[in-house]
Amino acid sequence: MSRRSFLASKPVVTVLTVSAMLGMVFVAVFLPGAIPETRVRLRVDTDKALESPARILPDKVIELTEFDPHDPIPRRFVRTAILRRGDSLFAGLLANGLGASDALTVVRTFESVYDPRRLVPGNELIITFAGEGGPLREVSVRLGSTTSISVTRDATGVYAASRVERRLTREPRRVSGNVANSLYGSALAAGVPINTVVRMIQLYSFDIDFQRDIRQGDFFEVVYERLYDEAGNYVRDGELVFVELGVGGRAYPYYRFKPSDGETDFFDPDGTTARKSLLKTPVDGARLSSGFGMRMHPILGFSHLHQGVDFAAPVGTPILAAGDGVLSFIGYDRINGNHIRIRHVNGYMTLYAHMSSYARGMTVGHRVRQGDVIGFVGSTGLSTGPHLHYEVHHNGRPINPATIEFPPGRVLEHDELSRFRTERLRIDLLREELS
Ligand SMILES: [Zn+2]
Repeated sequence: MSRRSFLASKPVVTVLTVSAMLGMVFVAVFLPGAIPETRVRLRVDTDKALESPARILPDKVIELTEFDPHDPIPRRFVRTAILRRGDSLFAGLLANGLGASDALTVVRTFESVYDPRRLVPGNELIITFAGEGGPLREVSVRLGSTTSISVTRDATGVYAASRVERRLTREPRRVSGNVANSLYGSALAAGVPINTVVRMIQLYSFDIDFQRDIRQGDFFEVVYERLYDEAGNYVRDGELVFVELGVGGRAYPYYRFKPSDGETDFFDPDGTTARKSLLKTPVDGARLSSGFGMRMHPILGFSHLHQGVDFAAPVGTPILAAGDGVLSFIGYDRINGNHIRIRHVNGYMTLYAHMSSYARGMTVGHRVRQGDVIGFVGSTGLSTGPHLHYEVHHNGRPINPATIEFPPGRVLEHDELSRFRTERLRIDLLREELS
């Protein structure tokens, strides 16, 4: 539903009328929190108020149409205040021009829909009088961006409390730009809200090393929601819908999608979550021929730590990048033969040894995605037969690839994948519309 159609519809507010009651029992409840001066004034005003008995009305529900407590009312005078630490609603009302009897009645009426002890510092009070020095018309307490509690007083002195829910509409906003020095700084400078920027950085923490990978010419695009109330006022920012980062000539788009059986997550165009693990077997159709740990070296003939795992496979079998990353080494040495190292995010590095040859385009600094073919199985270096020797290092130390624990990623399939494709198309059309 668009914002315009919301504006056209008439908001309906249900008003719960409650009986306003005054009494010494109630006063006693509120006295402990009040400051001494208040206590004196309170006693005087309450006594005066008790001379004119409050009207007692039966509880009933009235439906009013086109009622908006924040619309301009002729001859009105408005005071706003923020509740501070230790403030009670009662104290807040006294400090903002209400007499003790009015304040008590407001609090008592307020209580019928919301416990005033649940108010927290930062809640906003909006107090409306019928002109400066005139009688009270309304006290509205904003509990959050969408909910407020309103206590109104009509011309005959009847108080009514209601809970007012502002319906918010979402409007997408698209921001794009170049990454100058950091994604963080550039996105903020382009007007992307900080929470959204932080979310983007979290999403890319499996793809991008923000300390080292960001270069001149990299770009970003983000689509997120902004929330508006019925009057068209901006209230707050909503969720991230789409984000794309172009780094080193590769684009990394992610689309928001909620699988029917899970939480909202972000998926690449193929339906794979942004979260992903390193591959445990980066070579197709291979069998594990030697595990991680101490073993007798087949050629050197002494016991040592085998700091990787071996997969036996025919010469020429493609070797895959275990995760997204950047080539940090490609070359030959006596032990590893032709080998490649890939630097990944979060302190991980993988090494692929004994290759017969490299895939086309492999040079230091080349960016790979998980599953890209980087080379082919061989038996170069210190090797007894065709196999891939695969190592995973974390913060400079070899670890057993079989025991790496990452939060599980997810790949959408079947019905979920076709639902995702529909949503992806919708988001792509939205991006086009907004650009
Ligand atoms: Zn090995």
